[in-house]
Amino acid sequence: MMSIDRGSFVGTNCKLRFNYIFNYVIQKFWYTLNMNFQESVPLAPLTTFKIGGPAKYFCKVKDQFDALEAFEFAKARNLPIFILGGGSNLLVSDKGFNGLVIKVVNKGIEVIKESNTEVLLKAASGENWDELVKFCAGNGWWGIENLSHIPGSTGAVAVQNVGAYGQEAGNVIESVAVFDRQTGQILTLNNSDCGFAYRKSIFNGEKKGQYIIFYIYFRLSKTPKPVLSYRDMATRFSGQQPSLIEIRQAIIEIRNKKYPFPVEAKNGNAGSFFKNIVLDEAASKTLLGKVENRFGLEAKDALQKKLFVSNNGVVKVPTAALMELLGLKNLSIGGAKIKPSQPLVIINETGSATASDVLDLAKKVIGSIEKSFELRVEIEPNLLGF
Ligand SMILES: Cc1cc2nc3c(=O)[nH]c(=O)nc-3n(C[C@H](O)[C@H](O)[C@H](O)COP(=O)(O)OP(=O)(O)OC[C@H]3O[C@@H](n4cnc5c(N)ncnc54)[C@H](O)[C@@H]3O)c2cc1C
Repeated sequence: MMSIDRGSFVGTNCKLRFNYIFNYVIQKFWYTLNMNFQESVPLAPLTTFKIGGPAKYFCKVKDQFDALEAFEFAKARNLPIFILGGGSNLLVSDKGFNGLVIKVVNKGIEVIKESNTEVLLKAASGENWDELVKFCAGNGWWGIENLSHIPGSTGAVAVQNVGAYGQEAGNVIESVAVFDRQTGQILTLNNSDCGFAYRKSIFNGEKKGQYIIFYIYFRLSKTPKPVLSYRDMATRFSGQQPSLIEIRQAIIEIRNKKYPFPVEAKNGNAGSFFKNIVLDEAASKTLLGKVENRFGLEAKDALQKKLFVSNNGVVKVPTAALMELLGLKNLSIGGAKIKPSQPLVIINETGSATASDVLDLAKKVIGSIEKSFELRVEIEPNLLGF
């Protein structure tokens, strides 16, 4: 089967090009005849939560032609569609999904342009994200090293603008090549079209469900640009200029203590279940006032130290700190439990938690915070089939 692989388009020899196109058309035709739509496919094993029922139909796509066929298949049966990567930001309902799940499996990493200072890299959505980070760190390309050891596929990093330890994917994404289900065409969206913000983009916002992301173009730097703003990293490398590999190693060590990876069925999870709360300065002062009134000056000072204030006046309030104040760190319902050392994470502690256990637990946390502070906590994973 043909995929758009590393260097496939390289070479100017006409005969080679003709052979390539000829083989591609023949293999595409063959593959189309054989495109496999499986029925009643269990989704739990395809997610890191290891929870949820089956998909009515399931298929894999590698390119625009597969995508067209998958959408035709769904249209003919009037089925909703869900695009799946590595299933690490997903909670599937216990009854499953009465539609077509499309898993994106294209491969390839290609250097498009390179100068003394920068590299423009094209990476296929189906590439494993952490393998890509490792590849870039090994080549001395800066910009995504703090995003080491995050599970999932490369395509999905644009969806929620994946972020960790002071870096966000949106800061280095030059553009995104997508299949537009409305027109059946491939479009290139520039960074500014993608609407990147904290855990947000058009792909999980106003254009949710419209595009399949097939390739992401990353602009990475060859000049050292260590981001050590987070406390864990600042303490570890105080007064040093760590190398790219040292930073990646440190992130892996720190994260391994917080989020074991790969994720096993027992203690399965989707990373942070709750988003941090984003406020403006005035709202953050109101919150601090409420904390002081209810928990005293010491609690208010402690929370104030944990606020992350950015240059544009936006204040990120750690939801975990509010959960701690309200004594929500040790809650559990059925097989689902808040991870006490990492309260943003809900774990499938027993390996047999249900999606209802997880959601009931989440509702309890969200309800308590809303009642106490009049703040709405959003959940981070995507919900499917609810
Ligand atoms: C242990 C652990 C730690 C984590 N740490 C972090 C962290 O530090 N920071 C962070 O931001 N996230 C973190 N996550 C969440 C998750 O890993 C990321 O959001 C990741 O990018 C999801 O990738 P995925 O391929 O698994 O996406 P999936 O879970 O399969 O899908 C997520 C969403 O993206 C959509 N999607 C996926 N692929 C495509 C595509 N090709 N085209 C269009 N839409 C697509 C899906 O429809 C869905 O809406 C963590 C998760 C776990 C389990």
